[in-house]
Amino acid sequence: MSEELLPRQITPYVPKKGEEYMSERQRAHFRSILETLKTELMGDIERTVHTMQDEATVFADPNDRASQETDIAIELRNRDRGRKLIKKIEETIALIDSGDYGYCSGCGAEIGIKRLEARPTASLCIDCKTLEEVREKQIAK
Ligand SMILES: [Zn+2]
Repeated sequence: MSEELLPRQITPYVPKKGEEYMSERQRAHFRSILETLKTELMGDIERTVHTMQDEATVFADPNDRASQETDIAIELRNRDRGRKLIKKIEETIALIDSGDYGYCSGCGAEIGIKRLEARPTASLCIDCKTLEEVREKQIAK
């Protein structure tokens, strides 16, 4: 599932020997990943809008109308999710600008290049994320 977030055309980052974490080259690498994701999402949203306009026919059959309404509701939900993701990506790009990208917002540890390539918008290290998931499960009980 995490692979889905990785844009296909991006090759995994290979750090140079002794290269410091979140070097300028690494920040550029992740910025380009995030910008590609954003462009893809914006394309998806635009396509959704066009599909909805194409389908804005009024069907005479109430059954057709009902399924059309369901389709539109799903489209709207997808679009909403897409917008939220875009917002998250923009916030993440701002973190690159301020030099805070790649560090856990929970404990300040390095999140790690591999994890960030799988989840470019991750803001927690794997330990804090696991802890958060455990807590969420406890609350849900
Ligand atoms: Zn952490």
